[in-house]
Amino acid sequence: MIGLEIHVQLPTKSKLFCTCPNKTSDDPNSIVCPICLGMPGSKPATNRRALELACIAAKTLHCRPLEKTWFSRKTYFYPDLAKDFQITQFEAPIAINGYLDVDGKRVGISRVHVEEDPARAVHDMAPHQEYSLIDYNRSGVPLIEIVTKPDMNSPAQARDFLRMLLSELRYVGVVVEGEDLKVRADANISIEGGERVEIKNITGLRNLERALEFEERRQLKLEKAHMSVKRETRSFDEEKGVTIASREKEEEQEYGYIFEPDLPVYNLSSIVDKMAKPVTASEKAQEIAKKFNLPESDVRSLILDSKPLGELLEDIAQNVDPSRALRWISSVVKAEHYKHSEVSFSLIKSEIERVIAADSAGKLSDVVVKEAIKRIFETGEAGELTEIEEAEGELEKMISNILETEPNLLEEIRRQPKAINSIVGKIIKQSKGRYDSKKIFEAVQKEVEKRL
Ligand SMILES: [Zn+2]
Repeated sequence: MIGLEIHVQLPTKSKLFCTCPNKTSDDPNSIVCPICLGMPGSKPATNRRALELACIAAKTLHCRPLEKTWFSRKTYFYPDLAKDFQITQFEAPIAINGYLDVDGKRVGISRVHVEEDPARAVHDMAPHQEYSLIDYNRSGVPLIEIVTKPDMNSPAQARDFLRMLLSELRYVGVVVEGEDLKVRADANISIEGGERVEIKNITGLRNLERALEFEERRQLKLEKAHMSVKRETRSFDEEKGVTIASREKEEEQEYGYIFEPDLPVYNLSSIVDKMAKPVTASEKAQEIAKKFNLPESDVRSLILDSKPLGELLEDIAQNVDPSRALRWISSVVKAEHYKHSEVSFSLIKSEIERVIAADSAGKLSDVVVKEAIKRIFETGEAGELTEIEEAEGELEKMISNILETEPNLLEEIRRQPKAINSIVGKIIKQSKGRYDSKKIFEAVQKEVEKRL
């Protein structure tokens, strides 16, 4: 059984409780102020946009928002928090009890809450770890924490869940591109009947899967040797690919949460009422699938891959055969879009539509459509679309030409039927990939048979 606590940075302009810009810098301790340094007497004020983004995340994860929300102080003594407590949410998170479906598997979400990121501590700078360095640029950056139920059953499933979660949140603008490399998660994992082990602070999708795979093997090995798994907190060593027992973790209640007296209680429903609510990927997929009678899961995976591709599908499907549109946009258009990310759909949309419309009328072969779409991304235009009938006529002509100019080929085929392949090869070369090889083979066979 695997459960996750996921920390995602919110793309706000400023930090959570002060006006310092929310950005990174190579210059340590350059983006700080008395509030995010935790100076005595400094007073936090909540960034409203962070609460809005958290509400959008909660909606995307089908969570039930709480009417009222407030912040708490989570007290612990560690140099990454100069004020000795982290402002987070405990009793009254943003929302509770949601879920996310991943490949037919439903993973429960216990809660979504907002908190500030601590500073970054660097421990391995000094030769004998005589001292550590602290960079407060990250201190006070807004995070949402998403806590799942222990519903995942394999390391691969946990990775797929996290990837899907990030795609969904990216679609509604709660996370930005590239977050999959930076996302931080704590994972708890247990095998049936055994104790639960928590792996803290894993960075990125790939490491999450690696850490869980190692831990699963370690626990199974212990069980096989009739040794019990100890309930503990471990950390993941990215270089060695192993988990290591780390400092004993305090139980939640030992943190001594208290109400944060510097901040008010927020009425979430009034915040939600006033803000713009983006359509989630699931809602959009449902809408497009219903309108054009398309399989919802295919539409969802397309729009989660790329929002512009989803918009292109919605636009074009009105004027062409929608299933053809989905088919081409999910395959060749998608591949070319990734190759030529600089090409804007607004410039080439009409050409893509022209090609798919001709295909919808059954006039084009797959090879012609593929080539035309590639040309659109390279030159902006599809060029002339050779229709099937015309193309077949041209193919016939090409074969006749070869048979007339090289009559010895027919002699050869009479002796050895396999010699037909040499003609097929010549045509493939001459036609520069305009026809698929099966079609060429059939056409050559037909032309040869006429003459034998
Ligand atoms: Zn600040």
